[in-house]
Amino acid sequence: MKITVSVIKADVGGVGGHTKPSDGLLDAVRRTIKDSTGLLIDHYIGYCGDDTHVVLSHTHGVDSEKIHKLAWDAFMAGTQVAKEEGLYGAGQDLLRDSFSGNVKGMGPGVAEMEFEERPNEAFTVFAADKTEPGAFNYPIYRMFVDALSNTGLIVNKNLADGVKINIMDVEKAQIAELELWQDKPTIEAALMYPGRYVVDSVTTKDGEPILAASTDRLHNIAGTYVGKDDPVCVVRTQKKFPATEEVGSVFNNPHYVAGNTRGSHNMPLMPVRLNSAATINFCIPIVQAMVFSMHNGKFTGPFDGFSTPDWDLIREKATEKAMAIRSQGFIHPATLVPSELEYAEGYRARVNILESKMRPIEEQDTSNVDKKMVYEDPD
Ligand code: 13P
Ligand code: MG
Ligand code: MG
Repeated sequence: MKITVSVIKADVGGVGGHTKPSDGLLDAVRRTIKDSTGLLIDHYIGYCGDDTHVVLSHTHGVDSEKIHKLAWDAFMAGTQVAKEEGLYGAGQDLLRDSFSGNVKGMGPGVAEMEFEERPNEAFTVFAADKTEPGAFNYPIYRMFVDALSNTGLIVNKNLADGVKINIMDVEKAQIAELELWQDKPTIEAALMYPGRYVVDSVTTKDGEPILAASTDRLHNIAGTYVGKDDPVCVVRTQKKFPATEEVGSVFNNPHYVAGNTRGSHNMPLMPVRLNSAATINFCIPIVQAMVFSMHNGKFTGPFDGFSTPDWDLIREKATEKAMAIRSQGFIHPATLVPSELEYAEGYRARVNILESKMRPIEEQDTSNVDKKMVYEDPD
């Protein structure tokens, strides 16, 4: 049986800031999804920081207008409540007044894939807040390319054969299909710059979907700051795909990602429990793991992937790394480069003043420099 799993998310409001959705907002989303008689096989609704996500199973394929409209309507209903409650950033990620065909390019993030369901289908959904799609570059690299992180790449024949990785250039809106193992250094060159190149999807060599991620860059769509494009990603696991613990453990080294407060800093990505609020400790970026089983499109789960005691140590490490980079305040690389700053206008205003005070430096007289004293490379 062919099933589609669609994960669609949007930030439509947070309590007292960019923290978490309210109960009223979530109820409105839930009511809309429940009213979709017959459209879905199953659904799960939750949140990661201030981003609300819906995980939907159905038979309408990817990019289905009906499914996308349902998610859009649910987020609109959530926005209505957010406005009534005076939540912060009500409707933040809904960039259009009305739905037109597909939520892609309208603000919400989408990760979806259609596949022939296995008898014991297993998949994990990762949702992150206070960061950008490129935050998944490093963990996805560890999953499919780095055998030191994933022994399955040696001992599982299908993984050892290599996979296809589709990488998007989010600035030019172009996509490249790269293949392991021959394109390894090219994949590495792309993943090196998560603000520009992001993993869109991963498939087996014969095209079976393994991973799909959201790749929108909100500030590219809106042309101005509307919040970071907090990503979601769905990964099928077990049998010829990576084991569930192989896809979870790649989040055990909290690497620095762009985002957090004002979407303008670098901080480590901290694995947290399901339905955690964003921390008001400068918004350390967070990621959650929803571990599902599925049969005939019906979900069992999610099990909370980062809830076991070992993840407390990782959270502690992330907090320590967060405090370490915060200790240098606004000095780059604690802050992002100007082109990546979400508050680019505010920064530009400061630099304009600086530039207005700039004067040319007097030409320096170098006539009496002893040329013999100038160091020259022996080559
Ligand atoms: P979100 O992108 O999660 O809305 O956060 C925006 C922000 O500026 C947090 O400080
Ligand atoms: Mg927000
Ligand atoms: Mg968010």
